[in-house]
Amino acid sequence: MNRRGQAKVDSTLRVCEDIFCLGDMAEFSPAGGEAPLPAMAPVAMQQGAHCGENVVRKARGEPLQPFAYQDPGIMATVGRTRGVAFMNGKTYQGSIGWLTWLWHHLLRIVDFQNRVLVTARWAWGYVAWKWGVRLVYEAPPAETPPQRS
Ligand SMILES: Cc1cc2nc3c(=O)[nH]c(=O)nc-3n(C[C@H](O)[C@H](O)[C@H](O)COP(=O)(O)OP(=O)(O)OC[C@H]3O[C@@H](n4cnc5c(N)ncnc54)[C@H](O)[C@@H]3O)c2cc1C
Repeated sequence: MNRRGQAKVDSTLRVCEDIFCLGDMAEFSPAGGEAPLPAMAPVAMQQGAHCGENVVRKARGEPLQPFAYQDPGIMATVGRTRGVAFMNGKTYQGSIGWLTWLWHHLLRIVDFQNRVLVTARWAWGYVAWKWGVRLVYEAPPAETPPQRS
């Protein structure tokens, strides 16, 4: 385990002979001594697909294949109408960047029904100004009033 609680995995996403680990829980370093992959959704999704294939290969007694990450690019939104996206060697900025971010994220949602649901929720959040920053943080403990003796 590293300091972030991740298990180091080999090129086939295994911790040891019969145990696979992937996504946020895994520290995977690409071949060539590059830094470990970041804990991000595209890494977890690609590793999930690859791990599934390797489990099937193992069950069939076939050799396991090493995992290779395909970088889909990077993107972020800025405010309500602006964004920036770096994909396929191109940069998209401003409202085009924002629309690229939106389109890309909606396309990634599995299942048509989920996609419609999330689109409706996001649209409502946008129109009603509920499109907040999605951060997870620990709330400070509520102050307790001083005790009277
Ligand atoms: C606030 C926030 C914002 C983020 N924004 C982005 C972003 O913009 N872009 C991006 O690429 N990535 C983003 N990430 C990171 C991304 O969400 C993760 O990298 C990705 O979800 C990792 O997938 P995973 O399958 O490894 O883990 P998870 O998605 O965490 O899935 C693990 C699942 O296992 C379940 N589980 C846990 N313990 C048990 C148990 N004992 N038994 C059964 N089930 C269990 C959990 O409930 C969960 O459903 C963000 C993460 C956070 C927290």
